[in-house]
Amino acid sequence: MTRFVFITGGVVSSLGKGISSASLGALLQARGFKVRLRKLDPYLNVDPGTMNPIQHGEVYVTEDGAETDLDLGHYERFTGVPARQGDNVTTGRIYSTVLSRERHGDYLGATVQVIPHVTDAIKEFIGSNTEDSDFILCEIGGTVGDIESLPFLEAIRQKANELGRERSMFIHLTLLPHLSAAGEVKTKPTQHSVKELQSVGIQADILLCRSDRTIPADARRKIALFCNVAPERVISAPDVGTIYEVPLVYHEQDFDVEVCKHFGIETVSEPDLSRWTQIVDSIKQPEGKVTIAVVGKYTELPDAYKSLAEALGHGGIANSVGVEMRWIDSEIFEQDGAVQRLEDVDGILVPGGFGERGSEGKVAAVQFAREHQVPYFGICFGMQMAVIEVCRNLAGVPNAGSTEFGETSDAVVGLLTEWRKGDVVEQRDADTDLGGTMRLGAYPCRLKEGTLVHQIYGSEMIEERHRHRYEVNINYADTLESAGLVMSGVSPDGELPEIIELPEHPWFIGVQFHPELKSKPFDPHPLFTSFIKAAVDRSRLV
Ligand code: GLN
Repeated sequence: MTRFVFITGGVVSSLGKGISSASLGALLQARGFKVRLRKLDPYLNVDPGTMNPIQHGEVYVTEDGAETDLDLGHYERFTGVPARQGDNVTTGRIYSTVLSRERHGDYLGATVQVIPHVTDAIKEFIGSNTEDSDFILCEIGGTVGDIESLPFLEAIRQKANELGRERSMFIHLTLLPHLSAAGEVKTKPTQHSVKELQSVGIQADILLCRSDRTIPADARRKIALFCNVAPERVISAPDVGTIYEVPLVYHEQDFDVEVCKHFGIETVSEPDLSRWTQIVDSIKQPEGKVTIAVVGKYTELPDAYKSLAEALGHGGIANSVGVEMRWIDSEIFEQDGAVQRLEDVDGILVPGGFGERGSEGKVAAVQFAREHQVPYFGICFGMQMAVIEVCRNLAGVPNAGSTEFGETSDAVVGLLTEWRKGDVVEQRDADTDLGGTMRLGAYPCRLKEGTLVHQIYGSEMIEERHRHRYEVNINYADTLESAGLVMSGVSPDGELPEIIELPEHPWFIGVQFHPELKSKPFDPHPLFTSFIKAAVDRSRLV
């Protein structure tokens, strides 16, 4: 029997609903249940693929090639369950489904309305492909009270009503601000937010209260009284040192026990949370520290590189060191000599990115890493920039460039117009729509024996997730190899270069895919483990 938990948020956005949902997922999993997490986003974009990462944060790509909300990354990192296309939906996607059904005549002449047609489509999404799960945790994006959230709240109200209380529950995450002048945490915004939910027919079963401190007992009692929940169902969600501590903090307050009780599940034994204690201990007691410069474009918003930051941290856990990330806007390296600022770092990483702005600064960072023997990790755009740098400075192709930036005489990186996905040949051209048309999702890659990546992965075939429109032109393979660059990973048909490395360098690897998407705190990605190890080795040298 699949049970459904609906998680809403109130008072303000950015309270960490994704991490709270993921943590509950981890706790239920530790109790032996199969969980799946889903996100319902109220905005009108069909998916976040076309959104600016500075507005929306990272676009998380699933195995099956969906461009989704970054919270799905938290879900995977906390539970290890690979997210699927069907785990994230937006108002835009719901409406496009409803409207295409209307055009198709599926509504048999009915007037198409938010209730029931849009709400039915939302319920269909919530209830689809649930066979393999004991629990479906559904997070509703946005904040209660937003106009855009209303159809989603109505849909979960209806769904819970259909399922019955023994198969559904509501969790509401709110904020308890601390006013220093008053010397206390204030409960009024929480009371209002719970009332707002009640006004659409939803009574929260458990409240998670975010605050910069643990909630005092009297505030807890007051919230329970005004919000119609038992005091033990008011759970404190204080700020913690690392997000991986959240499952432990919740468990200490019996959050998982209360959820189980709601569903009539007995909780005699304690769940095994040793995985989380080990991770937290290792993060809190590092045996050293390395500094990694991340030279990118969207550096003002940490969420723009969420999975990357987490994966670097996982590499730190694997090597028992802390990883200090220095986020640098690559544009500054376009000034003469500015790249010298990279002198004191232990590793340089150029992450994924789009567009010409700042690209020359990235090329300068690659050159610095190569010439100064600093470990270099190029991810997607970072691999393309590395190839351009090597072409220009080692292979005698001074005009090497990418067609992403316009016409160029030596298009070492060019538009991907045809590739194989399983048995299907995908085709694109310069006029194709931008949304959902990149090379997306998991693709296999064959590793060359005797290379560093072969040793790091310990296998010949790997599968990694992609999100790009351009690729390194295989016709330059000989030119690049004569300059000392090895194409250590290629697509199985040998057409697409997927990994490059420089054997003469302590650690210089570029990958066309996004390994950060598959890294987990309890299963750090081997490339990040190896990169951080190289940074540790360097830090001991200098
Ligand atoms: N802009 C490049 C491309 O589309 C790289 C994309 C990325 O880094 N994700 O190929």
